[in-house]
Amino acid sequence: MTRFEKSFTQQEAIPNDAIEAAVEVMRSGRLHRYNVLPGETSEAEKLEAEFAAYMGVPYCLACTSGGYAIHIGLRSVGVKPGDLVLSNAFTLAPVPGAIEAAGAKPVLVETGEDYCLDLADLDAKAASSGARTLLLSHMRGHIVDMDQIMEICARHQLTLVEDCAHTMGATWDGRKSGTFGKVACFSTQTYKHVNSGEGGFLTTDDPEVIARAIIYSGSYMLYERHGAGPEAEVFDGLRLEVPNMSGRMDNMRAAILRPQLERLDEQCARWNRLYHVLEEGLRNHPHIKLPERPEKEGYVASSIQFALPAFSPEQFQALLKRCFERGVELKWFGNPVPNGYTSRYDSWRYLEVPDLPRTIEVLSTMCDMRIPLTFDEDDCRTIAEVISTTAREVAEAA
Ligand SMILES: *Cc1c(COP(=O)(O)O)cnc(C)c1O
Repeated sequence: MTRFEKSFTQQEAIPNDAIEAAVEVMRSGRLHRYNVLPGETSEAEKLEAEFAAYMGVPYCLACTSGGYAIHIGLRSVGVKPGDLVLSNAFTLAPVPGAIEAAGAKPVLVETGEDYCLDLADLDAKAASSGARTLLLSHMRGHIVDMDQIMEICARHQLTLVEDCAHTMGATWDGRKSGTFGKVACFSTQTYKHVNSGEGGFLTTDDPEVIARAIIYSGSYMLYERHGAGPEAEVFDGLRLEVPNMSGRMDNMRAAILRPQLERLDEQCARWNRLYHVLEEGLRNHPHIKLPERPEKEGYVASSIQFALPAFSPEQFQALLKRCFERGVELKWFGNPVPNGYTSRYDSWRYLEVPDLPRTIEVLSTMCDMRIPLTFDEDDCRTIAEVISTTAREVAEAA
């Protein structure tokens, strides 16, 4: 069987126009977002206006990371130390970390077979916990039924904060993911949909929320240099009340991101083409189950998840090992010991979390794989072939 040779962690190069823009910023020496000449608009400020326009919302703040955007997003919607925040049990570590940074306590919600938040459990826990905030993580780009989410939020008077780290460019029923909640948070970290190494965005249509977020991010008293921010008066009552928790984006990162944003939709279409090749290659396998994706979900499949419902933990270990030997790096969230980014809720020891048996059940039979855009459709056919053959061998060996 052929061995797959490409790296699963190799992203595409930064485009040349982005490199040139970054060099230009370095030549100017004005890397700090508030360091501008008279009449000049900084790269960070331009980027914010462009991302707000892309999202179709009035306000955007660029900041240091997606996790930081969630942290100050929670604070900006009024989450106080000790408050409870409902969130997905199946997500990545920056999400509970951001809740912790805001001084709040997560109420983790079970995971369905579609890898989304379990809506019945959400409804029950919203009622029993009395939490007032839902931090909804669109984990791995799987978008939960947003119509039902909005109905549950209205019924329990929950403020919705969206973690769109995996849904930048995605839609639900034709509407952009990140325009449903009070606040949406995005990451521009290397493994997300645009790449500045580190970085994040916070978007909202609420002038007071964006004003707080801007001051939290460390605007000194230069908050008027936010074209994608509110009128100056909105800051009047807040400027001395909200602490500075420095997390500004610099002009270098912004310069790298602006040309990438122009190509974002094109890149999203490329991810989906690769995903469909993988999906085709795995679809009729006797042991592999792909999630059913709702009609309304306009996903961006920058990764793929699938289940092997009948596989034991030993079979998963064997599958991962043999695929790895053939050059295909699958991840498994079923491991009780976290490995790389695959940490599970029960390994976030700083939290007090009750058992979540359905989440464990779903994660223990799920495989996860990123789809770098350095792969082409032939690569994806090879990968699907490696996974299919190996899964069949492991099943037959049992
Ligand atoms: C990457 C990620 C974030 C935020 O990531 P940063 O590394 O802080 O930019 C948030 N949620 C999920 C699900 C993520 O994968």
